[in-house]
Amino acid sequence: MHHLRVYEIYDSIQGESTLAGMACTLIRLAGCPLRCTYCDTPRAIPTDSGHSMAIDAMIRQVVASDRPLVLLTGGEPLSQRHSIELLTRLLALDCMVQLETAGAYSVKEVPVGVRRIIDIKTPGSGEVERNCIENLACLTAGDEIKFVLTGRSDYVWARNFIREHQLDRGDIPLLFSPAWGQIVPGDLCAWVLKDHLPVRMQMQMHKAIWGSEAEGV
Ligand code: SF4
Repeated sequence: MHHLRVYEIYDSIQGESTLAGMACTLIRLAGCPLRCTYCDTPRAIPTDSGHSMAIDAMIRQVVASDRPLVLLTGGEPLSQRHSIELLTRLLALDCMVQLETAGAYSVKEVPVGVRRIIDIKTPGSGEVERNCIENLACLTAGDEIKFVLTGRSDYVWARNFIREHQLDRGDIPLLFSPAWGQIVPGDLCAWVLKDHLPVRMQMQMHKAIWGSEAEGV
C-alpha cells in the first residue's frame, strides 16, 4: 500500500480558480523543491513536514467529507510520485478533482479528467527558470494557467509571455493573482483593462474571509 507525505487535509472553500467559492476538501501534500519569494505555505515546504498517510486512508477521509470538489495542492504535489495514484483514485469518486501545481514538473502523467491549475512562475517569484514550458503543449479543457504577480514588471512579463505562447486564444482560463500585499489590486485591474488582456483577476477568497495568516481553513 502506497503512502504520501501529507501536511494537512481539511474542508474549506476553494479560494481561487474558476471554481472559487465551491465547498471543497483540500489535500495539502508536504514538500516542495521551489522557494518562491511570496510563498504563503512555507511550513509545507520541508519534505519531512506533515506526516505519512496511506492513500486508502486519504480516500476514506475525502469520502467522509463528501464535498463536490477535492483540491490537491502543496507544497508541490507532483514532487511525490504516488500523487498520480492518488489523483487516479480521486477521479473514481463522485466529485470534481483539481490539481494545483507549480508548473516545474511535467503534467503528462496526470490522469485525464483532473482539472490542472498550472502556475507560470514570474521573475518576481525567483523561480522563473523552473517553468516546464512543455506543459503548455498539453493543455486541455478544464485546465487553467495562473500567474502570481509581484509588481508591474511581473505584469509586463506575464502579458508578453501570454502573447509569445499564444495563450490568449480563449480556450484556457488565464488567472492573474496579485501576490498578497505586494500589488494594489486596483492597479492590476487598471493594467489589464488598458491592455485588453483576456485574463481573469482573482483574489485569494480564503484570505479575504479568514485572514492571510489563518491555517487549516
Ligand atoms: S511552488 Fe508553491 S509551495 Fe513551493 S515555494 Fe512556490 S509558492 Fe511555495
